[in-house]
Amino acid sequence: MKLYAVGIGPGDAEYLAPRAREVILDCDCIVGYSGYMKLMGELASGKELIATGMTGENERCKTAIQEALSGKKVCVVSSGDAGIYGMATLLYELAEAHPSLEVEVVPGITAAISAAAILGSPLANDFAVISLSDLLTPWEVIEKRLDLCNMADMAICIYNPSSKKRSDYLMKACQIALRHKPGGTKCGYVRNALRGEDSQALVLTLEELSSAQVDMFTTVIIGNSATRVIGGKLVTARGYRI
Ligand code: SAH
Repeated sequence: MKLYAVGIGPGDAEYLAPRAREVILDCDCIVGYSGYMKLMGELASGKELIATGMTGENERCKTAIQEALSGKKVCVVSSGDAGIYGMATLLYELAEAHPSLEVEVVPGITAAISAAAILGSPLANDFAVISLSDLLTPWEVIEKRLDLCNMADMAICIYNPSSKKRSDYLMKACQIALRHKPGGTKCGYVRNALRGEDSQALVLTLEELSSAQVDMFTTVIIGNSATRVIGGKLVTARGYRI
């Protein structure tokens, strides 16, 4: 028996992997956050849809497992990639109690990759991905990771940069970055990357980023010492001599 954790990419149908499309089309039942169900449009038509709210991850995965054990072909969808701040791990953990159930992860284009492509090529050398959400990770741990990755001059891609309860977290993250990187460091953010007309992108300095207002649909990239702006695009040099 198999249960799929499918990453549907950023949103636009063109960026959904062929394998993900195939698995979704083959399933009887799609389980996911209600917001992502809308992104799937036609693909989901005729399927049994089980949508839950943003914080219903446990409930969502348990439901998916029950449905799969009842003999249905089930996939749990995550935006971007299912293994990156997605549902794949929780599915493995909960399915551990059901040895007859195999979990397969179908990869998708994660927000870091979508945002980087829109901004230019800012993740060309070593980079870190850090989520500012402290729902599951204590802020002290997030702060330490931000501190050390900035100290190591890595480009940093920030997920979950803000929410209603955490409106000053991006500012705090920038203040940590400013301990090690100059205020003129080139940065950028993308809201609703590759999600139709709605997409917005901006290139700015670290100083400017520290007072920018972004929301939870945004991915932020803080460059490193080799990041510069070429023709309005954010580009991190790899070091080739040209
Ligand atoms: N599994 C997802 C990440 C979920 S965490 C993935 O691999 O992309 C949710 C965070 O992802 C958001 O707060 C935002 O920072 C980022 N994100 C997801 N989709 C995005 C998009 N289309 N544009 C910009 N950021 C996005």
